[in-house]
Amino acid sequence: MSSDQAPKKELAAVKGTHDILPGEVEIWQKVETTATRLFESYGYRELRAPIIEHTELFEKGTGRTTDVVTKEMYTFVDKGGRSITLRPEYTPSVARAIVEHRLDLLGTPMRYYYIGPMFHYDKPQKGRYRQFHQIDVEVFAEKDPAVDAEIIEMADTLLRVLGVAETEILVNSVGCKACRPGYSRALRAQAEKVRGGLCEDCRRKIDINPLRIFDCKVELCRALAKEFPQIMEFLCSECRDHFAEVRKYLGLAGIPHRVEPNLVRGLDYYTKTAFEVINRGGGQQNAVLGGGRYDDMMKDFGGPDICGIGFACGVERLIAMLSFKPEPRKFVYVVHAGDAAKAKAVELARLFRVGGVETLVEFAGRGFKSQFGRADKLGASWVLIIGEDELAKGEFLLKDMATGTQTSGSPRVLLAALQGRVG
Ligand SMILES: [Zn+2]
Ligand SMILES: [Zn+2]
Repeated sequence: MSSDQAPKKELAAVKGTHDILPGEVEIWQKVETTATRLFESYGYRELRAPIIEHTELFEKGTGRTTDVVTKEMYTFVDKGGRSITLRPEYTPSVARAIVEHRLDLLGTPMRYYYIGPMFHYDKPQKGRYRQFHQIDVEVFAEKDPAVDAEIIEMADTLLRVLGVAETEILVNSVGCKACRPGYSRALRAQAEKVRGGLCEDCRRKIDINPLRIFDCKVELCRALAKEFPQIMEFLCSECRDHFAEVRKYLGLAGIPHRVEPNLVRGLDYYTKTAFEVINRGGGQQNAVLGGGRYDDMMKDFGGPDICGIGFACGVERLIAMLSFKPEPRKFVYVVHAGDAAKAKAVELARLFRVGGVETLVEFAGRGFKSQFGRADKLGASWVLIIGEDELAKGEFLLKDMATGTQTSGSPRVLLAALQGRVG
């Protein structure tokens, strides 16, 4: 390839990032508005945190032993010599905002949601981006197990409303500070016995955090992990009761779910409830969404002692599962010729838009016939015709492109007719 054919680096998106173009963005908007309406109907409010945070926030909040921190963070030193990280997940940012603004003292429900980009710096591959997007939901200061069930119900409803089929809800308890150490010890002892069979990564996890062996995708590791002791037998009575109540409320809500003892979630800070929604479409098994409770995270941050629970849903992965096709837009294309008609086109377009009707006026100086061709090509629902006769009369022609029907009338009459049909 000669140099003038090679794409210029500055004219290509940064590695691991992607544009969301018109035609595709409508699906994103649909997901965003659906999620926003649903979450707000449960009393959640949006909390927008910055994209960048001090690196220490994630080192402290996400946990030093998780992969997110150990190898995947998008971290850089800024011009002031500070270590800055593009957020790999949202929960630490929300926790930080709560502490910084003392939102816990406001007396309002601490139920937050956010939809936006997250970042990690691993090797880009198909379906994995350095800038990816998440729907994130967090509840703080509510320890009742009914909240766990409600948040799972909300997650399930989101997927159903969007039309994600073949989903299954997996739930588990990962214990608490009182009971998990005992379980980790038992797990470590068992893992040591089969150390030789585990992959290098898992052998490292034995010492750091043996629970994370359950997250390994290597076949042999998975087979060995099936024989490991299960956390249910180690839960303290508080964790056991909490889990039983979560399941009771899920039952009352009529939400089918399966207890998956090996579901431990990748992050260090989870306590008690952990859950995932998986999609079994196409013979594959993919987690669409996952979350859990993190009752100690806030305190570990140096913040107030308030509990939390939340989930995150990968938007790229979610959208890949949707068969939703956006409705064609209904809009008016204004055909005009000559200076007087052009000025009138601008005026009537303004009137229609204020009246809630999408209206497109182009100024490319095309002929009358060519403008009709253009309206057809763009898929206009109606064409508003502004010619010399119409200008003189003050009455204009509106052509329905699907039926060919033409209506004549004053701008207000035409607008009223359109308003009844754009719905
Ligand atoms: Zn416990
Ligand atoms: Zn492994």
